[in-house]
Amino acid sequence: MLDYHLHLWPHGTRASQPTLEQLAAYCERAAQAGVTEIALTEHLYRFRQADAALRGWWDDEPDLALRAQMKGYWDDHVSADLDDYVEAVLEAKAAGLPVLLGLEVDHYAGRMDEVARLLAGYPFDVLLGSVHWIGAWGLDILEDPVVLAEWDNRSIESTWDGYTDALEELAGSGVCDVLAHPDLPKVSGRRPAVPDEWYERMAEAAASSGMAAEVSSAGWRKPAAEAYPAPALLARFHKRDVPITTASDAHDLPDVAARAVELRVMLADAGYEWLAGYRDRRRHAVAL
Ligand SMILES: [Zn+2]
Ligand SMILES: [Zn+2]
Repeated sequence: MLDYHLHLWPHGTRASQPTLEQLAAYCERAAQAGVTEIALTEHLYRFRQADAALRGWWDDEPDLALRAQMKGYWDDHVSADLDDYVEAVLEAKAAGLPVLLGLEVDHYAGRMDEVARLLAGYPFDVLLGSVHWIGAWGLDILEDPVVLAEWDNRSIESTWDGYTDALEELAGSGVCDVLAHPDLPKVSGRRPAVPDEWYERMAEAAASSGMAAEVSSAGWRKPAAEAYPAPALLARFHKRDVPITTASDAHDLPDVAARAVELRVMLADAGYEWLAGYRDRRRHAVAL
């Protein structure tokens, strides 16, 4: 098994320089759960280089409260240095730890070319692509009252539409390798009665872009109370031969490789026999 979605710094804490000890502890925890390789995939918006290239992207949002919320969220998170992060993960690799250098890249509407330029030249093994916001509405920041209130201002259908539009642009950009938490708009626990049309679009976006999709235990820790993606979406991925990675989306040691056994069962039930591993952003098969 793999855990291809790991953060070093919990939300609400400042970034600190990753140490070999921290990364070794992640690997040890993963190994105890039967996970043989991990990818560090810190949020792109943690890094000053992203701030320099993308700051102010939220100004396209017409809603003042959402714009102010996002600016505050951004300022709370940005502080780390991308070069230091890359160097720390490469050192861990050189020391023989089974770690990959990755990043969780967000969708920035109309700005994915800038994102591609920012990331070019770094020796990433795997890049996750995530839609975290519709306009400047960070839909999964459920602890924020402004974000939470917006869930009542929109219909579920328009939220799923806006999310899926963004996911299609992200997939079409070719910037990333794996769609992270593909059905994220279920995060709050509210879902469309019949989600099939959005599932179809998500599966088509993955298949036509050649991206893999992530199966993540993080959804079990949210009001959605279900892994990402839902079994019905996973079935569509399988039907279209979309490769799969597995993930915990841990932001701290205790959640590393969380519920890996249940993810394995879910994938076997869906008919998967292998996982997508990555190295230098090239895919290879790993036995499930
Ligand atoms: Zn995410
Ligand atoms: Zn994440």
